[in-house]
Amino acid sequence: MTYLALNLSHYVNGVAKKHGEVSRKLLVPRDTDHHYTIDHITNGIHLETWAAPSFAKLFDRFLPGWRADNASLRGALSIPATEFWEAHQTAKQDLIDEINVRTEASFDAEIFTLGFARRATAYKRANLLLQNRVRLKSLAEQAGNLQIVFAGKAHPQDEQGKQLIQEIVRLKDTMLPEVKIVYMENYDWDLARFITSGVDVWLNTPQPPLEASGTSGMKAALNGVPSLSILDGWWLEDRIEDVTGWAIGDAKSSDMGEADCSDQDAELLYEKLQNIVLPRYYEQRDSWLRIMSHAIALNASYFNTQRMIQQYVLKAYYE
Ligand SMILES: *Cc1c(COP(=O)(O)O)cnc(C)c1O
Repeated sequence: MTYLALNLSHYVNGVAKKHGEVSRKLLVPRDTDHHYTIDHITNGIHLETWAAPSFAKLFDRFLPGWRADNASLRGALSIPATEFWEAHQTAKQDLIDEINVRTEASFDAEIFTLGFARRATAYKRANLLLQNRVRLKSLAEQAGNLQIVFAGKAHPQDEQGKQLIQEIVRLKDTMLPEVKIVYMENYDWDLARFITSGVDVWLNTPQPPLEASGTSGMKAALNGVPSLSILDGWWLEDRIEDVTGWAIGDAKSSDMGEADCSDQDAELLYEKLQNIVLPRYYEQRDSWLRIMSHAIALNASYFNTQRMIQQYVLKAYYE
């Protein structure tokens, strides 16, 4: 069916630059006769849907017209930095309230909070962060405490995905009190809106090169929440280290195919968290605010559906 579709399609694309490359390697034969090429158009998110109320208000005030012209979010660089903190703490408090109503976790808005929410399936490696719990607990002890919000459902037939959820639920209370973990049930758009806008950093740890694009990190960036992510999918295109967020490892180690490099990736994740991310958050507030503004100005101004649809119109629909 794939080859039938490829040969009968007027235009074929991957959903991120890297996904285009990987798809060409998989699906474009070198020698035999074929009638297609594979381009890419990187995914985007609908900004009005994913902006938290506090950020929508902030953009309305400083960048009127951003809804009709998403690219004008570039102007986020001119918004006074303290405004970002205020809008973020409002979104964060909304999330914390939601968590504390739905669960017994009793989260606290003053504590650094990581978010991880997506389909529970093996390649997304939700358990990577918990690989070395002694290490995680000790870095939290050293830098300031840590809260982690997990969410995501497994497909009913995805046994590995279900096991991932069970593993996290089983381990979640083993690093208290320094590391507080909650696994939220029933991940849907409503919950996604709370989590992507209310955490401090968005964590993304797929097994490269399997993440076609990823979109939840774009939702986070729009709300000034930088990503800490493996270099795969969209993050390869707009990660500027310590400016829009952070990479876990480098692009080379992200290209080892399906070989399992989880131990190595977990170690790189702990190092980045300990040496860069936590100190920025707890001790270098000015740097933190600058990164929030760049996530909005550089990531959200581009990774939106307005830019994406324009590219589909130009490259696919009217070509
Ligand atoms: C955004 C979103 C997704 C997709 O997130 P990815 O980062 O692309 O995996 C899945 N489920 C819900 C409810 C979402 O809001």
